[in-house]
Amino acid sequence: MQIGPDKVVTMHYTVKNDSGEVLDRSDKNEPISYLHGAGGIVPGLESALEGKVTGDRVSVSVPAAQAYGERDPALVQQVPRRAFGGTPKLEPGMRFQAQSDHGARTVTVVRVQGDMVTIDGNHPLAGQNLNFDVEIAGVREASSEELTHGHVHGPGGHHHHD
Ligand code: ZN
Repeated sequence: MQIGPDKVVTMHYTVKNDSGEVLDRSDKNEPISYLHGAGGIVPGLESALEGKVTGDRVSVSVPAAQAYGERDPALVQQVPRRAFGGTPKLEPGMRFQAQSDHGARTVTVVRVQGDMVTIDGNHPLAGQNLNFDVEIAGVREASSEELTHGHVHGPGGHHHHD
């Protein structure tokens, strides 16, 4: 069965930046699953997997614009330290949920200087080309329930608790 719209794809993957540093990889015994065409993985990878079958290995370099997008300098802002309330020790690299005009967003502390804290609301992988090595472990039809929900159920996918 070929990968295409409304298929559930199970895969092992490793993703590296342009310096060859591993950014993320699936657990060897626990491949991830996604619903093809539902925006569950970055667009550049999704289109590269179109038409592949179980057992195929795919190496693809996805430019930033087809991954998590380019960095937006406007998302780097200075805020007063008191905005972090009771957090005792603010350090670069710490991440927080912040409320913005566009809903909740994760921000990363990039610098702490006196009473001012510089935060970055870009996705940590924004502006980076992502180099994927993928091995397709399985392809199946999505259930009608999965199509309604827009995500995969069961192993490697979404678990409902209700
Ligand atoms: Zn669901």
